[in-house]
Amino acid sequence: MKKEVNHNHDRPQNQCNQTIINLGHSLGATEIGFSDLSGLPAPKRMHFAYGITVLIKLSDGILNQIGTEPTQTYFSHYRSVNRLIDDICLRISLTLEAQGYPSVAIPASQSVTDPEDQFTGAFQHKTAAVLAGLGWIGRSALFIHQTHGPRVRLGTILTNAPVNAAAPVTESGCGSCRACVSACPALAIEGALWKPGMPRNQLYDAYACSRHMKEAFQHIGRGAVCGLCVVACPIGQ
Ligand code: SF4
Ligand code: SF4
Repeated sequence: MKKEVNHNHDRPQNQCNQTIINLGHSLGATEIGFSDLSGLPAPKRMHFAYGITVLIKLSDGILNQIGTEPTQTYFSHYRSVNRLIDDICLRISLTLEAQGYPSVAIPASQSVTDPEDQFTGAFQHKTAAVLAGLGWIGRSALFIHQTHGPRVRLGTILTNAPVNAAAPVTESGCGSCRACVSACPALAIEGALWKPGMPRNQLYDAYACSRHMKEAFQHIGRGAVCGLCVVACPIGQ
């Protein structure tokens, strides 16, 4: 089922990449990716040329405790990992700025006021991660890392620093799997196979997902997490 796709590591790392990789790993990142964002509309990428993805793998011990509903431990873990990602992105962006490259660290979990889509962030982390060759978008609309599946969290730094970008992933690796479609209690996952440029609403209904989390899991993390489509995915289990 899993596709052979270009790994970030297949590309030669220049000095700038290596400095960022070393810093990211020393601060706790599982993986750092580099993407060329020039194919995206300039306002969407805040007029920056490159994305740096900071990826942290979630704890299997915590994810494996999720059964038919999320756990308090998962909710805490989710928030802790977001904080760590934000710290790593901030440290990397400050380092780049000290070297003369203005950069913007996009928070791991932040919604912006968009009247057309209240579930969108200032920049889509998974867009940069796919362009960095780290994985694809699953039927669940989650980012699916080639090894760890959806068991990851992401952050992004937008920059003009001269990094070497990797080749993007352009195909879904979901194959015939539909495990997340069957696992979703909100029937929010449509079941379509992702293609580059596909709008999110062709993959899943973010409003149905959010409504279900708020109604069913209010007693766990105030209805902000679910995780059932994460643990259902065979990739990374
Ligand atoms: S988070 Fe839960 S409700 Fe939302 S799509 Fe995944 S399984 Fe469905
Ligand atoms: S559960 Fe299967 S269909 Fe869903 S994202 Fe994972 S691999 Fe793709």
